[in-house]
Amino acid sequence: MVTVREPSVAVVGGGVIGLAVAWRAAESGLPVTLFDPAVGSGASWVAGGMLAPLSEGWPGEDEVLAFGAAALASWPGFARRLEAVTGVDVFVATETLTVAQDAADAADLRTVADWVGERGHELRILDRAGVRALEPGLARGVRAGLLATAEPAVDNRRLVTALRKAVAEAGVVVDPTPVRDLTGLTQDRIVLAAGAASARLWPGLAVRPLKGEILRLRHRPGAQPPPARVVRGRVHGRPIYFVPRDDGVVLGATQYEAGFDTTVTVAGVRDLIADAETLIPGIGEYELAEASAGSRPATPDNLPLLGRLSDRVIAATGHGRNGMLTSALTAEAVLAELGGHPLPEVAAADPHRFALSTPSGGSR
Ligand SMILES: Cc1cc2nc3c(=O)[nH]c(=O)nc-3n(C[C@H](O)[C@H](O)[C@H](O)COP(=O)(O)OP(=O)(O)OC[C@H]3O[C@@H](n4cnc5c(N)ncnc54)[C@H](O)[C@@H]3O)c2cc1C
Repeated sequence: MVTVREPSVAVVGGGVIGLAVAWRAAESGLPVTLFDPAVGSGASWVAGGMLAPLSEGWPGEDEVLAFGAAALASWPGFARRLEAVTGVDVFVATETLTVAQDAADAADLRTVADWVGERGHELRILDRAGVRALEPGLARGVRAGLLATAEPAVDNRRLVTALRKAVAEAGVVVDPTPVRDLTGLTQDRIVLAAGAASARLWPGLAVRPLKGEILRLRHRPGAQPPPARVVRGRVHGRPIYFVPRDDGVVLGATQYEAGFDTTVTVAGVRDLIADAETLIPGIGEYELAEASAGSRPATPDNLPLLGRLSDRVIAATGHGRNGMLTSALTAEAVLAELGGHPLPEVAAADPHRFALSTPSGGSR
């Protein structure tokens, strides 16, 4: 009798993407080693946790919407499976409300509702009274809203912690060695999931760091309660969002090109707080518990890089602003790719849509 050995897998990078991939691959019976000197310390620890592809829809961005909707659809099964293994429920909200303060923003909300609605996803327009009935803490200047009842949010840190537990229970070997060169790895297959640093291991890969600063605000006795759902808006043209937590809210986020710099700037914190108070005036009563910054692994077209780079290497990176949203689908896609049957849902994320160099070292 001939026994067929399962291919061994190296996952490089233990953020939400690498952890989700390592967990699902090990669960499916593959021997998996996860390489990361600082598991869970990257953008995944910093993030907000919105799963909001519909509210972010915009005419012309059909591929991004379809991809995001597929990513959202894979979440319930993923979350159920993770809860069954770890006992952890990662959800912190079930819906998302985007608000408008002026006529131009209100018109944009109608554009999004119509365009996304035509593609089969329901978004509801609310008037001033409707918005305030849902979120009484919002400023009186808020004049309209867009409610996405199918867009939940997760606690990113609870997710990372649960995935670490799931990975351990599935028998993944965690190796704290930083990977300097993929050719040095001995496994049969390599999944490149090093977030914003991925191009250091595959030069020319179309992923770059996009800095984001974010605050964690803790509710204090006497302060108004945190919003019951994700609240998003725009102040002075800058996007701002509140994601509920058990003890308060996460308030995000700035977005600008700054290389791998993750220092928190005074100007970033000032803008976030000023913009937040414009939408939810009572937020000033909260405790400023934490200010942090991370590097989003961004691509030129806001779709990730998912698929084969070579016979041995699979890219699972470039998740940009949506790595929490896309983690469930990415894990399924990589598992399918490892099994030799790529998922059609992720075809738009093929890394070969950008020019790819083959780094020296041959067998990668
Ligand atoms: C401020 C902010 C807010 C965000 N909000 C949201 C949100 O609301 N919703 C959403 O969906 N997404 C959000 N994101 C995006 C999301 O956080 C990222 O897309 C996601 O975390 C990317 O996960 P990752 O595993 O690819 O990268 P990371 O979490 O950065 O993990 C990469 C890992 O690779 C490891 N690594 C790097 N180099 C090597 C090496 N050479 N060898 C071994 N290991 C290596 C690192 O140590 C790290 O642990 C936000 C991001 C930021 C910064």
